Amino acid sequence: MNIALRPSLTLDDRFARELPELTVPWQAEKAPDPRLLVLNESLASELGLDPASLRTPEGLRLLIGNLVPDGATPVAQAYSGHQFGGFSPRLGDGRALLLGEIVGADGRLRDIHLKGSGRTPFARSGDGLAAVGPMLREYVVGEAMHALSIPTTRSLAVVGTGRSVLRKGLLPGAVLTRVASSHLRVGSFQYARATGDMNLLRRLADHAIARHHPEAAEAGRPYLALFEAVLAAQATLVAQWMLVGFVHGVMNTDNMTISGETIDYGPCAFMEAFDPATVYSSIDEGGRYAYGNQPVIAEWNLARLAEALLPLFQDDQEQAVALAVESLDKFRGQYGDAWSAGMRAKLGLSDRLDVEVTSPLVDELTTLVHAERVDHTSFFRTLSRAARGHADSVRGLFVDVAAFDSWAQRWRALGPDADLMDRNNPIYIPRNHLVEEALAAGTAGDLDPLGRLLGAVTRPYDERPGLEGYAAGAQEDFGTYQTFCGT
Ligand code: AMP
Ligand code: MG
Repeated sequence: MNIALRPSLTLDDRFARELPELTVPWQAEKAPDPRLLVLNESLASELGLDPASLRTPEGLRLLIGNLVPDGATPVAQAYSGHQFGGFSPRLGDGRALLLGEIVGADGRLRDIHLKGSGRTPFARSGDGLAAVGPMLREYVVGEAMHALSIPTTRSLAVVGTGRSVLRKGLLPGAVLTRVASSHLRVGSFQYARATGDMNLLRRLADHAIARHHPEAAEAGRPYLALFEAVLAAQATLVAQWMLVGFVHGVMNTDNMTISGETIDYGPCAFMEAFDPATVYSSIDEGGRYAYGNQPVIAEWNLARLAEALLPLFQDDQEQAVALAVESLDKFRGQYGDAWSAGMRAKLGLSDRLDVEVTSPLVDELTTLVHAERVDHTSFFRTLSRAARGHADSVRGLFVDVAAFDSWAQRWRALGPDADLMDRNNPIYIPRNHLVEEALAAGTAGDLDPLGRLLGAVTRPYDERPGLEGYAAGAQEDFGTYQTFCGT
């Protein structure tokens, strides 16, 4: 007989203990009828948790915070944030809780966090809940990002609550169990700074250094080194987003982590037709968070982090500002280097080639694919066939074939490595029409389309027969795609 082990979860309360001013102890709302929708078995194992026991009724209650392990102190975290450029001093976890920290099988400390677990004192006018669809979106897009080796928070499970949530109509509710190397955000520092308590700000910075950037502790100016470490992590992160065509959609300062992980998959989507002005979010009317703006917005957010940290850089304010500006100036170079190196790999070009040669070629390509709104993902993946001497499929993506041929001739003369290209250009990304189809089916209780989509996007580079439909862009009748926030 196969008897599942009793589920066990040992959680630390380090954040709640070290930074009580940034927490409100709170409990998750009780779910009337918890049903497991999706469990991330490999992540569970990485965390040292037994997947079979998490599937039991007791395991589900653990996953949604309805059973709190001994020693854990679930808290709602306080943070501020610039939302679309305007400062909100008190945001915080309105519908989320930090259950505590877990030490994984690899010895690393991670947060176990809930989303959709009920109203907290930070809920304002929100209902504290989440619908099944958006939680499944966070699950599938986050796992796709992870498989693309892009730093990200991950999803351990989505559990249906058995409670309806009122959105445009009534929708089934769910709780997402999220795993992150922490939930420290730029907005956490903005909150600490706004309290005027410099001791709190310093303790928060020390906590962040210990947890994410321990090398900063050895630097001459540890807090400036922390800032530069966050800047470096964000520069490479956003470069990786740009290379795969990811549009986050709501890069408010409360949605930018100190760890350098992607967080909060709300109105996010992958760009299909190449266009820097691409926006999917229904509320981003000015295009502030458009695809092409993301690096500039990351830099803007980092300037807000520097402002929050300023008193820790140096007592003299003028000197502190000078130090911050000097550090912030490094962002563009670091972002540019990460992006250029990634683009060279996507084009199969050796990093020994002179940038004077590769850079104009990349610029010309950008103009070409933008002019013809070529599908970003399909272009790079089919280009590797051209590197192997079969240019038909990639040529078929262009109307002005002569312009492409002229570019391709110069590119091929540089000896592109097709295998390098296939390791750097995914064939399967979470295509918007497929995500919508999987979410609609999942909301109606059919999780098979989600399972199949996960199967494709969690091995993004590995072309497999039968998955052709997962590699293609949406049909014209899919129309202009829009995503929605606050869902
Ligand atoms: P987000 O756009 O998901 O990053 O959330 C921005 C802020 O709104 C955070 O403070 C969230 O906790 C809060 N929030 C979003 N949705 C809800 C909801 N349904 N109920 C309560 N608070 C919410
Ligand atoms: Mg958020």
